[in-house]
Amino acid sequence: MKWNYRCPVCGKEYEIEGGRYLCDPCSAGNLPGHPLRGVLECVWTGEVPFEKDGRTIPLPVASGFFPPIPVGDTPLWAPARLREELGFPRLFLKDDTCNPSGSFKDRASYLVAAFAKERGIGEIALASTGNAASSMAAVGAAAGLKITVFLPAAAPAAKRIQVLQYGAELREIRGSYDLAFDTSLEYSAETGVLSRNTAYNPLTIEGKKTASFEIAAALRSLGGASAPDHVFVPTGDGVILAGVYRGFEDLIKLGALEKMPTVWAAQAEGSGAIARALARDASAADPFSPVVPATTTADSISVDAPRNGYYALEKLRKYGGKAVTVSDEEIFAAQRLVSSRSGLFAEPSSACAFAGFLKVRAQLDPASTVVVMLTGSGLKDIKNAARAVGAEV
Ligand SMILES: *Cc1c(COP(=O)(O)O)cnc(C)c1O
Repeated sequence: MKWNYRCPVCGKEYEIEGGRYLCDPCSAGNLPGHPLRGVLECVWTGEVPFEKDGRTIPLPVASGFFPPIPVGDTPLWAPARLREELGFPRLFLKDDTCNPSGSFKDRASYLVAAFAKERGIGEIALASTGNAASSMAAVGAAAGLKITVFLPAAAPAAKRIQVLQYGAELREIRGSYDLAFDTSLEYSAETGVLSRNTAYNPLTIEGKKTASFEIAAALRSLGGASAPDHVFVPTGDGVILAGVYRGFEDLIKLGALEKMPTVWAAQAEGSGAIARALARDASAADPFSPVVPATTTADSISVDAPRNGYYALEKLRKYGGKAVTVSDEEIFAAQRLVSSRSGLFAEPSSACAFAGFLKVRAQLDPASTVVVMLTGSGLKDIKNAARAVGAEV
């Protein structure tokens, strides 16, 4: 078994090593504050460890280096009341709120931390809207790594407090996530510290693919096909979306999935760059230009320039993926609906995926298998959740 990084655009391959992030020729024209060109993906040749139960997943770091913290292996809910009310008897909720730090981001942090342990790297830096920071801080605490996070001062309090509780170094940025992203890259370039910036570090995509393996395994264990028909993914930078695709691609390569599901990028209207790009003509010179400042209150999916935009768009185009945008009102209505009918309280970004499903469900076959990814705990943003139920905090 041999692992490499590969550029999906030009096909150039690179060794997987600490200082390697983007494809050199393809990233040469990258500008601050724009989506990244030259994002790399992990590829393998030869035999890889794999079991159909969703627990043994091919990854580019040996299993002995993963820190002692229970990331992933999250439940797939069968929400009976929502199924009945909406008329979708095969609706499922993938509950990533129960990861150690309360979000899907732990999947990426887990692989990046394992890589650092394998290579003897002691410090990791990253920019975040909140969840990536609290996640890397949690996993770093278990692994014994120094974590430095660049966080916009406006991040929800719970996420900031998590970072401090887990003992990471917090650098507050007076400005947007996009500014935090570029400041964090400068820090890594100056100090040589490993960057976990989303999309920039290819392991952030690779780490997130594990959710697809778990979904396929859970559906298989219920009998019938392993592939869902539709998967709704809350989308900001487009790294969860890409990771979900990578997982399904691997499963197809391994002969363990019947077909590529239809993946839906669910975005807030106020942060819908990937949906806008997908709607544009494929021949547009730059589908992400101009960059539009984000306005949604769903902080985890609020990005001006989706860092993984080009890569995510490529996957959506290749596999006939779709996009749906919803208003903030629809997000908060969906959050309440899921909470009050299933008992799963998810943060606004995750509710966006459910709101996207609600919006397009009339187009879907009610007999289809639908998985909605609920990526973050509702307890992470109490202020907005309170407003949605007319309460104060
Ligand atoms: C980061 C995040 C997202 C969006 O993921 P992207 O990779 O930025 O598209 C969705 N939900 C939650 C809870 C997140 O933390």
